[in-house]
Amino acid sequence: DLLVVGSANADLVIGVERRPAPGETVLGSDLAVHPGGKGANQSLAAARLGARTALLARVGDDDHGRLLLETQRAAGVDTDSVLVGGAPTGVALITVDPSGDNSIVVSPGANGRLTPEDVRAAAPLLAAARVISVQLEIPLDTVAETVRGRGPDTRLVLNPSPPAPLPEQVLAACDPLVVNEHEARYMLGGGAGETPHDWAPALLALGPRSVVITLGAAGALVADSRTESLDHVGSPKVEALDTTGAGDAFTAALAWRLGRGDELREAAAFAVRVGAAAVTARGAQESFPTLEEVGAL
Ligand code: ADP
Repeated sequence: DLLVVGSANADLVIGVERRPAPGETVLGSDLAVHPGGKGANQSLAAARLGARTALLARVGDDDHGRLLLETQRAAGVDTDSVLVGGAPTGVALITVDPSGDNSIVVSPGANGRLTPEDVRAAAPLLAAARVISVQLEIPLDTVAETVRGRGPDTRLVLNPSPPAPLPEQVLAACDPLVVNEHEARYMLGGGAGETPHDWAPALLALGPRSVVITLGAAGALVADSRTESLDHVGSPKVEALDTTGAGDAFTAALAWRLGRGDELREAAAFAVRVGAAAVTARGAQESFPTLEEVGAL
């Protein structure tokens, strides 16, 4: 039902008292290795909810790639379209200081080698998907080819992260464009007013058929050009332990529900619950809830 076209990374995390200055060495905690990357996060989040999900991605022929493949398979994701080789698996080198601040260096690795050709080779998968979800941790050409290759009835959900300028055809296909506050500001170039209520119509004016702005603990705003509606969807109150991956869990849940025929507002009302559940546990993929856990919220 859901096809995620996107990145798969190994997140390598070390806790430090403070960051090294240039030329300096500091000692840190034991290394923790977590499966991550927005694509792999989304496919895993959807599968954990019970969605029939496939991932189109590229990893290296290495231990990080095998870790990613194993965690996806264990969650029930169809990994037949995860390509292997061409470059090392993408890596995020993360240091976390005692205040919880992250410093991150990303090496896209194999994610940067997921080509438009790879997407064309998966044409039947794209045509059959009810919903395709894409992000921007893979080459923009590959994103554009995904948009071109989708089936006539395939709905496209796009989260422009990390934010980058998007071609008109890509923007026009988004239904919805899903952004957090930072991505919304980037897309609007700072010129569309101060509040999310101002951003929604301005984002719609860029061409997508619908827009969802996630607002952290405040939930999400949903704007649809067809119904000319602007709705706020509140998030359940939870004790937030770690917000890593909340946006990915939200977007995966939204995409899955849209594929099941939900209205956008309905799908968003479900997705905020999934996002809220994801912030109550540490980590990204480790924190994604099952349908039961969302129900218990
Ligand atoms: P991102 O992770 O991309 O920055 P947000 O912070 O907007 O995106 O979070 C995405 C979704 O996760 C929100 O719409 C909300 O449903 C949920 N969420 C995030 N932070 C909290 C929080 N502190 N309390 C409740 N829900 C949250």
